[in-house]
Amino acid sequence: MSFRAIRVTEDEQGRHAAVETLEDERLPPGEVTVDVAYSTVNYKDGLALAGKGIVRTFPLTPGIDLAGTVADSADPRFAPGDRVVLNGFGRGESKDGGFAERARVGADELVPLPDALSTRQAAAIGTAGYTAMLSVLALEDAGVAPGDGDVLVTGAAGGVGSVAISLLAARGYRVIASTGRPEHGDYLRELGAADLVDRATLSAPGKPLASERWAAAVDSVGSHTLANVLAATRYGGTVTACGLAQGLDLPGSVAPFILRGVRLQGIDSVYAPMESRRRAWTALAAELDPAHLDSITETVALADVIPLAPRILAGRVRGRTLVDVR
Ligand code: NDP
Repeated sequence: MSFRAIRVTEDEQGRHAAVETLEDERLPPGEVTVDVAYSTVNYKDGLALAGKGIVRTFPLTPGIDLAGTVADSADPRFAPGDRVVLNGFGRGESKDGGFAERARVGADELVPLPDALSTRQAAAIGTAGYTAMLSVLALEDAGVAPGDGDVLVTGAAGGVGSVAISLLAARGYRVIASTGRPEHGDYLRELGAADLVDRATLSAPGKPLASERWAAAVDSVGSHTLANVLAATRYGGTVTACGLAQGLDLPGSVAPFILRGVRLQGIDSVYAPMESRRRAWTALAAELDPAHLDSITETVALADVIPLAPRILAGRVRGRTLVDVR
């Protein structure tokens, strides 16, 4: 059988992405073959499609997410017809990922889908949404309660930010959205943001400590933004850090940690243990408003994915981009 896939190749002229038709023999080794229904476009996929950084082997099928149905399994945990989702584990970076009609993967990488989520919904949530839930659960584990005060979400109109706002508001937190795109103010309020702040107020170099403003924060931006968020976090508050949309650096001081007992909790989705993944997916199935998920999701065909790379890298994509692979 043959299947369509986006392939990133490298030659003397550089790196190129194109849709190709491959034979099943080109599938990599693995216990489970999946008929992929959907993938999504995350920031990392933008990097891979643009031939930047993260691709570690060529040729490679990008796509850090996939959701679909098991076609064939050599592992007793999965049978043909099972609906599954896969996020990370190096897919789309060092191993073939989800921008393909078929994928062969390790059984240890797959999460069986909760009945309450359709395959389409699971894909729309994708790495960004599952990372948002990991962040929310980290705040819960740190003891941040809804009555504690304002919770800031940075990178608000992006994939992680949009889902985080919806999840936190549904749990009863008062959410403040930091965005550089005030034109999406109505969208952010509809997801549950009580108020907005201009991201420019956070993105320049700031003081080691500022007045105590945030009970907690979910940050996907890094750099000066994260340093300023930490500096304005209230005594004993917690900040989660998952992203680097502004930068990989963290140009701050230890003052928030040693003078206010602020906690900085890193969030990694790629190699998160299966127990954390199942917990996050179960919570997403129970808590994420399907109407919100619809409102943040734009759907594109596999053939339309490659031109999206510059847009997501420039921070111009809103919410989540679902790829209908079929
Ligand atoms: P998106 O591109 O969808 O969203 C990022 C948002 O960040 C933008 O929408 C924008 O929000 C804001 N932003 C963009 N550029 C800047 C800038 N220069 N300064 C300040 N804010 C900026 O990406 P995702 O939401 O999918 O991912 C966000 C980050 O999290 C990425 O760095 C991604 O790699 C990382 N990530 C990490 C994971 C992990 O496992 N640790 C998993 C998933 C994502 P606005 O327009 O509202 O200001």
